[in-house]
This record gives sequence, structure tokens and C-alpha cells, in this order.
Amino acid sequence: MLIVMRGDASQQEITGVVSRIEECGLNAHLIEGRERVIIGAVGEARPVGHDIFRIMPGVEQVMAISRPYKLASREFCPENSQFPVGGLTVGSNEIVIMAGPCSVESRSQLLEVAQAVKEAGANVLRGGAFKPRTSPYAFQGMGEAGLELLAEAREITGLPVVTEVMSPEQTPLVAKYCDILQIGARNMQNFALLHAAGASQRPVLLKRGMSATIEELLMAAEYILSHGNRRVMLCERGIRTYETATRNTTDINAIPVLKAHSHLPVFLDPSHSTGNWQYVAAVARAGIAAGADGLIIEVHANPDQALSDGAQSLKPERFAEMVSQVRMIAAAMGRNLAGQAMPVFPAVQQVALDARM
Ligand code: PEP
Ligand code: MN
Repeated sequence: MLIVMRGDASQQEITGVVSRIEECGLNAHLIEGRERVIIGAVGEARPVGHDIFRIMPGVEQVMAISRPYKLASREFCPENSQFPVGGLTVGSNEIVIMAGPCSVESRSQLLEVAQAVKEAGANVLRGGAFKPRTSPYAFQGMGEAGLELLAEAREITGLPVVTEVMSPEQTPLVAKYCDILQIGARNMQNFALLHAAGASQRPVLLKRGMSATIEELLMAAEYILSHGNRRVMLCERGIRTYETATRNTTDINAIPVLKAHSHLPVFLDPSHSTGNWQYVAAVARAGIAAGADGLIIEVHANPDQALSDGAQSLKPERFAEMVSQVRMIAAAMGRNLAGQAMPVFPAVQQVALDARM
């Protein structure tokens, strides 16, 4: 349930409500809005009536949250969540681009691509050190040595790093090196991992399972949020359908649906959602037009030699081209790319010229 405090509620009144929530066996999650404090009371205790809170001093209103996910819902937090991640603000008007190889393969491979994506405008470096592969005989990632290389690439480029974590036991190690923990599609419902990522208090990029509904994605986010870890980014990465022309089907609908039902930032991964580099830029543009807050893109200097996902990896020059296209789409949506000024449209320049004549 949501307990909306009056605009003039005192700290003591807020603390009183929090203590009462805890006495009822629930957890209290505070949102300090511009005008008032809203307190979410969630947990698995027996149903608690609204009246005991309604009569407390400082309380304006008590409401039920209608969705099964609570802390992830728009009802809980009507404004978009914005939070700091490695020197950036995610969820703001500025679109964040994460880019890099599918897997960290070697020092030279990672450093070359890290520099290239930075120059092209990426804000975060991606790269898998622990890889969840369909075949046990496929490259499984460099492990901790890969994490060390990511940390070195961050040192050199200044880009924060996102990398996948596959198990709860691995979480402290991965969290030690990275700025953002990535939970992959195959682990979206690994509940022990979700708990560990929540407890780590690290920002988390949570990818939608390939056969998961939007509601299941939001329920998975709820596990992380329930630990008081608010820095959760949702990621649409394509779902399984009957279509075989692409690796997955980009559920573009998921972007506006997630934005409608949740306050959390939404990312799109057009690399995995298409599985083919030729379609990545088009789908990236569509994602930004649909309202995504960011993108995660696979880039490799020599896709033919990539140890994983070469077919969907952009070469650096194509990635740079994609960034400039995405920048124009973002501007049309009244947004800009993190760290970059908004471009001036040729059409706008034309209007200005006409006005002078
Ligand atoms: C990846 O990002 O390389 C990856 C394995 O993604 P997903 O979990 O979406 O398949
Ligand atoms: Mn990949």
C-alpha cells in the first residue's frame, strides 16, 4: 500500500508511520518527492488494513497499489526515476549509450574497441567476462582476467563499465570491478541472483528473459528493489517468436508499456533483439523514437573473428554512424545524448533562413 504524507508532515510523523509499518511486519520504502513524502509499505505479512495508517498524524491518504509489482510500479513513483551511475544520470532527458564487445577477448581487442566507442559517443563500456553460452563448448569468457581488463579500460577511457554476473556467489567479485551489474536474459528469473544483486546496492541492468512477459520482468525488478536498491534499469532485448528471419523479435511495444507501468529507466538492446548487424541501427532508432532512455550495442573491430555474437556486432565506424542517427531521432523527441549537445536540424535552419527573408 502507499501512504501519502501531507505536505507539512513533520519528520516525527513520518518516522511514526515507518515504525508502524515495521510493527506490522512490512518494509517501508520512502520516496521524498518535491512536495511530499510517499511511503510504500510492502512485504509478505498478512493483509494489513488501511485504517490504522489513515488515522495517523501527518497522513493525507492511503492507497492500494493495484499491480503485483509494487516498488517497480508507476503508482509507487509517478515521476521517472533518475539516478547516478558512474558519473552519468540515467533516466533523465539524456539518452545513455552503452557499447562494446559481446565478450572481452584480449587486452588489445578490448582497449581498441573501448577507445573507438568512446570517440563515437558511447557513455558506458560493455563487455562480458562471464558468458552464459548455449553450448558448454563455446567460449565461456575470460573470467576475472576479463574483469581486470574492463577495469583497465575504464581507467584509460573514463567510461564506466557494465558486465554480466551469472550467479549469487559471483556477485561480490563482479561488483568489485564494475559500475553496473548486468543480469542476462537467461538469468532474469534466477531469484537468488536477483536477491544478491539487490543486496549489492550496485546499479543493475536487468534484461528481459527471452520468453518472459513484461509483468515477469517487472516482478524480477521488484526482487532487486525490495532490497532498497533503487538503481534498476530495465532492458528489452528481443523475445522468441515464430519468426526466424531474425534471432529474436524486438518487442518495441515493451518500451511504451514499461514506461507506462513503471518509473524505471528503459533500455533497448537491438544487437540481441535482431541478431544481425544490418538491422541494428534501424531498430536502435526505433527504440529511441519509442521512448527508450538508452541503448546497449555490441561493437567489435573485427566481427568476423569475434568469439561470440560477431554476426550482430557493429564495426566502430558503423557504430559512429548509428550514434549520429540516434542523436537526430533523440532531438526530434526533445532529448539529447548524454554528454552531447542537441543537433540543429537542417529543417530548423531552413525555417530560420526563411524568417530572415
Ligand atoms: C549479452 O549481453 O551479451 C547477452 C548474453 O545478452 P542476453 O542476456 O540479452 O542474451
Ligand atoms: Mn552478446
